Amino acid sequence: LYTPETVECNGETFNIYLTKEELEARVAELGSELAEKYKGKNPIFIGVLNGAYIFLSDLMRQVDIPCEVDFLKLSSYGDEKVSSGEVTDLKDIDADIEGRNVVLVEDIVDTGLSMKYLVDKLQKKGPASIATVTLLHKTEATHHDVQLDYVGFPIPTLFVLGYGLDYAQEGRNLGQIYILDGDAD
Ligand code: 5GP
Repeated sequence: LYTPETVECNGETFNIYLTKEELEARVAELGSELAEKYKGKNPIFIGVLNGAYIFLSDLMRQVDIPCEVDFLKLSSYGDEKVSSGEVTDLKDIDADIEGRNVVLVEDIVDTGLSMKYLVDKLQKKGPASIATVTLLHKTEATHHDVQLDYVGFPIPTLFVLGYGLDYAQEGRNLGQIYILDGDAD
């Protein structure tokens, strides 16, 4: 795994915030909770691209029951560290989720806008149920009314990088979560 002590990304310095051991342990816990909850229900995991692809692939391999996967894609932050406040669809799911048990998987919930948008959008497709999972939740930044069923780690309102999360498309391949230098204290 690519796990340096510090990272230079787009001219800024990032330090370790969550180690690969902490991530592994929490992802395993979430995986067993989901396996328990969805036993016999053949859930379909829906990952939000690009950010959630690493978390989703680790998470699903901790879910030891039959299940499926599909993806959708929303517009991202662009190259900035703050949200644009708008959500646009870039790619929809291919699967028919009518009557299915959906597990929607995000990397991070910040204002809550994306997750709320996604739940509303998927709800219109008539699933039997929708549960939401996010690896990270910026609890104090969330002002949209959004239901979060499984949260990996509540975190402060700080910009994070790695484990699927990018800064201007870089840093997704980092094996742990990093935070902008100086923000942690
Ligand atoms: P929200 O719609 O909740 O405001 O923002 C959610 C999306 O913003 C996430 O899916 C992610 O793409 C992006 N995002 C929010 N906070 C961060 C962050 O700290 N780092 C990175 N890399 N992306 C973030």
